[in-house]
Amino acid sequence: MNILNIVGARPNFMKVAPLHRAFLTNPAITSKIVHTGQHYDARMSDLFFNQLDLPQPDYYLGVGGGTHTEQMADIMLKFETVMTRERPDWVLVVGDVTSTLACALVAVRMGVRVAHVEAGLRSGDRRMPEEINRILTDNLADRLFVTEQAGLDNLRREGVADEKIHFVGNVMIDSLVQYRRKANDLNTVGALDLMPGQYVLMTMHRPANVDHEAGLRSIVQIVENTSLHRTVLFPVHPRTRANLIRFGLMDRLTNIPNVRLLEPQGYLEFLNLMEHAVIVITDSGGVQEESTYLKVPCLTFRDSTERPVTVDLGTNQLLTDLNPETVHHHVAEILAGRVKAGVIPPLWDGQTAGRIAEILLNAERAGVGSMTGERTAPMLS
Ligand code: UDP
Repeated sequence: MNILNIVGARPNFMKVAPLHRAFLTNPAITSKIVHTGQHYDARMSDLFFNQLDLPQPDYYLGVGGGTHTEQMADIMLKFETVMTRERPDWVLVVGDVTSTLACALVAVRMGVRVAHVEAGLRSGDRRMPEEINRILTDNLADRLFVTEQAGLDNLRREGVADEKIHFVGNVMIDSLVQYRRKANDLNTVGALDLMPGQYVLMTMHRPANVDHEAGLRSIVQIVENTSLHRTVLFPVHPRTRANLIRFGLMDRLTNIPNVRLLEPQGYLEFLNLMEHAVIVITDSGGVQEESTYLKVPCLTFRDSTERPVTVDLGTNQLLTDLNPETVHHHVAEILAGRVKAGVIPPLWDGQTAGRIAEILLNAERAGVGSMTGERTAPMLS
């Protein structure tokens, strides 16, 4: 069974690493990695290959920047060439980035089955490009691997056949479980001269928060307010940095005492910083899940979350507006010890990748792929 695994952007690497490893342990599986190059910055890409023990990708498409449409078109054209050469049995895509949808679409058009890992998540907010990517990718997929109950419910409501859906847990947590000790040994907290619990960790990069001046001004104000209580560590995403500069807010942020602006962190460094933070403030999808697993209080600046289990069972709280006063109130509550208790969601146990490998093998053995389309589209040669 030949599988092509697709990675493109930062949140993909920690999901594909345990899958590729699980596939390689089985002699019946050939597993290759295609990196589209959607994130090409060394700090958003290369670093993760090293830290997550991923081999160099078998194919690097080098698509780089551009609008969503340009990226999508470029990925599709280049991936089609790879598909023609490889003729895999499965294309495995993770998450909800442009590469996820682009590669799924090429695969299906060429009659190759798609496995979607992290299927069924829905924010209900179609203004998010990720939401469109999720809905369309799920529609194209033959096997949908789900991280939480809401994913199952959404897919059933949308009419996806039960036999295609598998509730397997969370591969991102597989990586966390595997690398947690290594991250602690690295002791990034100590290297920054900080103690556990002494700082708030912040990440922000969603267009809805950082692409307009009002949102960025609120973020700067929130950082300033929070820094009166604890040191704020803020690894700044390239998108956020570019916009802070564009709107002339970088100097103001840089000059706030007790705030440390950092480069985007490596996976191990960030894991260590997350584990020992007193609060994580974020708009990231993955960070909501990881902080729930680590039982660290998390404040998420989003109108909605596609990962409701982090709120229902975990330590996550949604803050639906960027009002600095509201945020200040929540930060003060947590620092006063009024912390939302959380439990680890079902099947977030570090074993998800093995379950997925087993299910794909069984599907192959049974010869039932439940093809979305028929294999009528000719393979280009
Ligand atoms: N992350 C990282 N360094 C950072 C910030 C985040 O390694 O400076 C990791 C984080 O631990 C998680 C993933 O990146 O595993 C989340 O990616 P991101 O927030 O870019 O995307 P999203 O999950 O929102 O799609």
